[in-house]
Amino acid sequence: MKLPTAVFLLLLPLCAQQHDLLLKGGHLIDPRNNIDARMDLAVAQGKVAAIAASIPASQARRVIDISGLYVTPGLVDLHTHLYHSTGMKEAWAGDNSIQPDAFSFRTGVTTMVDAGSSGWRNFEDFRFFVIARARTRVLALINIAGFGMMTDFVEQGDFDAKAVAGLAKKHKDVVVGVKSAHYQKPDWQSVDLAIAAGKDAGIPIMVDFGYFLPERPYYQLVTQRLRSGDISTHCFRGPVPWVDEQGKLYSYFQEARKRGVRFDVGHGGGSFVFRNAVPAVTQGFYPDSISTDLHTGSMNAGMIDMPTTMSKLLVMGMPLKEVIRASTWTPAQSIQRPELGHLSVGATADIAVWNLMQGSFGYADASGARLEGKQRLLCELTLRQGTVAWNWNARGGDDYKKLPPDYGVRKGIDHVIRPR
Ligand SMILES: [Zn+2]
Repeated sequence: MKLPTAVFLLLLPLCAQQHDLLLKGGHLIDPRNNIDARMDLAVAQGKVAAIAASIPASQARRVIDISGLYVTPGLVDLHTHLYHSTGMKEAWAGDNSIQPDAFSFRTGVTTMVDAGSSGWRNFEDFRFFVIARARTRVLALINIAGFGMMTDFVEQGDFDAKAVAGLAKKHKDVVVGVKSAHYQKPDWQSVDLAIAAGKDAGIPIMVDFGYFLPERPYYQLVTQRLRSGDISTHCFRGPVPWVDEQGKLYSYFQEARKRGVRFDVGHGGGSFVFRNAVPAVTQGFYPDSISTDLHTGSMNAGMIDMPTTMSKLLVMGMPLKEVIRASTWTPAQSIQRPELGHLSVGATADIAVWNLMQGSFGYADASGARLEGKQRLLCELTLRQGTVAWNWNARGGDDYKKLPPDYGVRKGIDHVIRPR
């Protein structure tokens, strides 16, 4: 029989191309799997299919050459504000929030955690209008205050630990924690009720400490109040006491870390000063997670985006592998999502590709102070579930001169009518 042989020969090249996409020639950094080496990475059916020093180009339907670039897991930004759909003017849960897909992929971010923009009264609205519609993986912390971050005023009360825990259990596919934020009163009510909700639902809390008051000092928050796994965001904020008069790091940070408390950057528009971050990094106390506190204010000020915030830590002296760890695997663990933030074979192919530029760059903190550095990360390519979601340099594209003369015209739908 001739036919089966012909069919076999036709199918042979298809079988050999078992991968949808091959990222070839990059330097892979995957802290969870302790990989920091030149590696090819293949993707099939939205998942990481193979990682090896060399994977033949013939095994993939599409090959993208990324020689000279770094490959990392897609970033997990632990602190963002995405509840843009409320119509509220000048509100975090409103016009100050960001539509996730409009910002995520171009910065290498594939998972965004909304940090309590919605509370227990409006979380389901947030889920319906934002989370469910985004291509970015959006997870959420529910604010202990009923209306979340509509205004600082509504964050001073209307706390309900039971309601928050109930919603967290009901929506546990997307709810990863509880938020206490912007509290102005001299007691611990906002923090304590967030902890009660977190305990009930088995999830961590994140605290934005709000007003720093003598009745409830910051060191007590991290050495006495927070539980193991709870997160202190805005850790490099101006009023956080980092160093003594001699410039030496206070010992309470190590004490808090030993207890399991996690320190998150949450740069934001007003929560990151170099005079706190530089001595911490220089003295070897790296933040557990690097995050943006993304909103319309911070993105257009010193913070800018994840790559810029990561670059700041990098030029302060935090090693690249640790910067990547703090932007991928550690935040994934902080939100109890061990399936995220790494590139193990079988993991969802959420991937970022980076150009580590060398040159002369300037960075601003939240107070406008400047730091100079010789490096800067630029996101060149992002994959979400194995599909190209951002491609800054059009890598892997075909030269237009080599395409058919009528490419870009939908056959049978469009008609090119030339002028007479
Ligand atoms: Zn925030």
